[in-house]
Amino acid sequence: MHLTFLGTGTSQGVPMLACHCRVCSSTDPRDRRFRSSVWLEDKNLSVVIDTSPDFRSQALRAAIPRLDAVVYTHSHADHIAGFDDLRTYSVKNGNRIPLYADPFTLSRLEKAFDYAFDLKIRSPAYVCPEPHPITGPFTIGSTTFVPLPVPHGSITTTGFRIDSAGRPRAAYLPDCAAVPPPIRDLIRNIPVLIIDGLREEPHPTHLTIAQAIEIAQDLKAQRTWLTHLTHNTLHAERDATLPQNIRLAYDGLQIDL
Ligand SMILES: [Zn+2]
Ligand SMILES: [Zn+2]
Ligand SMILES: [Zn+2]
Repeated sequence: MHLTFLGTGTSQGVPMLACHCRVCSSTDPRDRRFRSSVWLEDKNLSVVIDTSPDFRSQALRAAIPRLDAVVYTHSHADHIAGFDDLRTYSVKNGNRIPLYADPFTLSRLEKAFDYAFDLKIRSPAYVCPEPHPITGPFTIGSTTFVPLPVPHGSITTTGFRIDSAGRPRAAYLPDCAAVPPPIRDLIRNIPVLIIDGLREEPHPTHLTIAQAIEIAQDLKAQRTWLTHLTHNTLHAERDATLPQNIRLAYDGLQIDL
């Protein structure tokens, strides 16, 4: 299975609008960050986690041919605002697109995109969501998603452990302020950890890079990729100072799980 980082940026993206700092004006493509999202694909599966405001550009760049489902972490705009561009994939999938999200996130999606969820007004050529409330582990194709609820300010984000052939392959935790002990127990020795590493300065709803490193080391994650990065992080400079098995993710990076 391949995992492609469609976006590794925080909610405003990098470069930020109207900012001329050294990261926003960097010519290194790794300093250009769409909003955070990943694409999982193997021969039986094509799934994105979240539909960011950049989803259309991300899907074009990655040449995503079809989608079997969308899995949502939470309802902040930087994770759902690309919903409308699921239209093509919904039509190609037989006028239905399965959406997996925790009940609160689903209720927010239904409110934000009522014209798609309301059977009385939507047209079959529009996005036709098929809601699947997450209440425990679920399977799409031969891939199992184990929900990892983590605190993110006033709400909870649902991260995921991604299992294939009965083995944990990766954990995706893009927006979190902490990883509580019971959740750590679900992802110890995980081969690939993808985790919020917002910036150096503390933030009420996100992990700092130092906090993410501490969690990765406590979990004994074999390989860690930091995501949801800001314009405070210059890729080449900060990546070079990280522990050897911890790296900054960047848009377009593809890894095998
Ligand atoms: Zn976010
Ligand atoms: Zn900037
Ligand atoms: Zn968020």
